[in-house]
Amino acid sequence: MARMDVVVIGAGLGGLTAGAILAREGRKVVVIERGNSVGGAASSYKVGDLFVEGSLHATSDPHEPRDPKHDALSRAGVLDAVQWVPAGSFYEVRGGPFKQPFVLPDNLAAARAALLAGFPEARAGIEQLFNELETEAEADPSLSLAQKLDQLFGADEAVKCAVAANLGYYHDDPATLGWRQFAGAQAAFLRSGARYVQGGSQRLSSALARVIMRAGSEVLLRRVVSAITLDANGAVSGVVHTARDGSDPQTVEAAQVIGNAAPSALAAMLPADAGEQLTQSYALQPSSISLFALTLGLSKPPRDFGVSAYSTQLLPDWMTSLADYAQGTALMAGEPAGKLPPLAIVDYAAIDSGVPAPPYVLSVVGPDDVANWSAQDADAYRARRARWQAAIVAALDAQYPGLAAAVTHSSFNTALSVQQYLNAPQGAVYGFAPLPGSGADRSPRTVVPGLYLASAYAGFGGYSGVVQSAALCADLVSQPR
Ligand SMILES: Cc1cc2nc3c(=O)[nH]c(=O)nc-3n(C[C@H](O)[C@H](O)[C@H](O)COP(=O)(O)OP(=O)(O)OC[C@H]3O[C@@H](n4cnc5c(N)ncnc54)[C@H](O)[C@@H]3O)c2cc1C
Repeated sequence: MARMDVVVIGAGLGGLTAGAILAREGRKVVVIERGNSVGGAASSYKVGDLFVEGSLHATSDPHEPRDPKHDALSRAGVLDAVQWVPAGSFYEVRGGPFKQPFVLPDNLAAARAALLAGFPEARAGIEQLFNELETEAEADPSLSLAQKLDQLFGADEAVKCAVAANLGYYHDDPATLGWRQFAGAQAAFLRSGARYVQGGSQRLSSALARVIMRAGSEVLLRRVVSAITLDANGAVSGVVHTARDGSDPQTVEAAQVIGNAAPSALAAMLPADAGEQLTQSYALQPSSISLFALTLGLSKPPRDFGVSAYSTQLLPDWMTSLADYAQGTALMAGEPAGKLPPLAIVDYAAIDSGVPAPPYVLSVVGPDDVANWSAQDADAYRARRARWQAAIVAALDAQYPGLAAAVTHSSFNTALSVQQYLNAPQGAVYGFAPLPGSGADRSPRTVVPGLYLASAYAGFGGYSGVVQSAALCADLVSQPR
């Protein structure tokens, strides 16, 4: 039986960051991951010749000292282990209520100037918005994004879409997305700029794993944690992990266990009473949205077809108001019938991304729900997914003529893929939903003594939220109550 100081369940970004910080502080850590490689959502890989980025479109620049990732990645020893490539702008938005594309720069002064130039009639609201973002004014936690934008811009839907077109990077409905959560994340991008990890998010995850191993700790792959054991006082005493077919059970003793896996997955590993307690403690927190991610490989660079930014938010024509965004998530429950969800597309060849080409990689992401796909057998699922892929490619071709004929490779992950690949309930990609009023009381600490969270569920989702709460988790583990 092995004995460690800390066991980490899952080698996603949260587990790796907490593991690296603790290993560098001299703790004996083992990170146990069920997948073939480290990273969880923060992975990039090849499908045949096609490079697939599992998640990252952009994160704010961690070199900015106020960035939520700055301290955590410095402490984990990886801030300069990868290159953080500028995305050039925050995003271009086209379609929906826009007659022509609008580009939102990724710094506060330039973004403010671009909005004032593009929407002069909304000057008062834009000034107030940027005063609040620049001064980091305490945002009202009870307000939704929709309520705040109504206050600022009334019925001017184009300016609302210009400032919040990337909604899907946080949630899928402005009426239930907390203004405070949105403002915090959006301001981080506008303060420090949008960045991609050169060569793919796998480089960041692999760098974290190397830090752990160089510090004398361990990362185990293809091992599934099946049980968290408790002592007579109900405190954590270790874990049992097995091969993926359930064979070869092994026990690790540890007084502290960090769950990078979702709380519902951790609850299933605990003895029934403790599992129920953990489940109840999160009963009022619904899961975040899921995303589909269609990766296309093109024979020519996307710019040849008119893709003019690294990141483009492509709003469908039926979307005439920001509130319409909420209708996008359920569309894939049916057949494609002329109505597409809002799409976030990224052209990795537009910047010095380090993504290999050809084929030139275009990532297309949109809101999705596991319920859209779960009622089908495997063949029907694949066939309907293929029809949605054809519909999305046709919509891209309408926007960027000639693009469809250049598609040579593809890989389509739905909410169901996310659920299965990451063991994520409902395919959630951002932990718990960032509803108005939620989040302030979230913590890596759980109701089970010795069990902590280092994941999107411990704070907020996305790279910034996950890395930040993983560092907080490491602090709590270092100095338990
Ligand atoms: C398509 C897509 C696009 C995205 N785009 C962006 C973006 O541009 N910017 C941004 O900031 N964020 C983005 N995100 C969100 C971001 O990737 C996630 O919020 C973040 O990576 C989650 O990290 P995590 O460590 O909490 O969890 P995960 O990455 O889910 O890691 C959990 C790990 O636990 C493992 N695990 C589960 N159960 C067990 C078990 N029993 N035993 C062992 N291991 C187990 C899983 O295999 C997994 O590796 C995107 C996500 C997706 C899916």
